[in-house]
Amino acid sequence: MTSPTAWAVRCAGLTKSYGSRENRVFALRGVDLEAAPGELLMLVGPSGCGKTTLISVVAGILDRDEGQCELFGQDPRALSGRERVAFRGRNIGFVFQAFNLIPTLTARENVSIPLLILGKSRKEAEARADEALGRVGLEDRRTALPGQLSGGQQQRVAVARALVHEPRLVVCDEPTSALDHRTGMQVMDTLRSLASGNGRTLIIVTHDARIFGYADRIAHMDDGRIERIETAVPARKDS
Ligand code: ADP
Ligand code: MG
Repeated sequence: MTSPTAWAVRCAGLTKSYGSRENRVFALRGVDLEAAPGELLMLVGPSGCGKTTLISVVAGILDRDEGQCELFGQDPRALSGRERVAFRGRNIGFVFQAFNLIPTLTARENVSIPLLILGKSRKEAEARADEALGRVGLEDRRTALPGQLSGGQQQRVAVARALVHEPRLVVCDEPTSALDHRTGMQVMDTLRSLASGNGRTLIIVTHDARIFGYADRIAHMDDGRIERIETAVPARKDS
């Protein structure tokens, strides 16, 4: 038996439905999923198959109906409300399709948020935010507002925000789908280079076949279930 702590993420028998009795929608119908430290796992499948629901349950944004989900050998639901929030704040970073930056805050202020939530001083938070913006190639745009940045730059700010507190797990929901091909690839290069080598786990939901080559494994989902998992996919080149 593998010890539970060998996995970054380990879910078994997850179910989740929305709505009440008459118009209930079953979004997850029994999902088993594991992700290793340092792994880049992609989750693919048709629209509505449950991808966003699954990563939201993994990240603790949504509560599951049934099943288990451990992160780093620990079930966050076993913690008190306060400890759970702190556990997730320390261990998880998020990147969303629509960037989700706060429009009235500068790039630096947006990237500082996870650190401020963890109780760091503004000074420390901004210094680390500047460093993170440097790592995504935006050192000269620290004081720009999101509206003054291109889509690709905004998504790189979102990547900096997801990584600034060095979480062990980064969850991304369609991070390249609002971007053109070249910009999407740049964002993926940034994610891949910042994630690999330090044991950080990335789970990336995508429709975008052009980025499949970045994955270590691809989990194919359909109708609330994982149908199969592909390993070591050859990089797919542009035609
Ligand atoms: P995907 O991300 O793969 O497109 P989702 O996880 O968003 O799929 O959705 C899975 C199913 O759950 C879909 O049928 C969707 O319509 C439904 N669903 C998602 N969110 C809600 C919600 N907040 N209320 C009701 N139904 C929802
Ligand atoms: Mg979705």
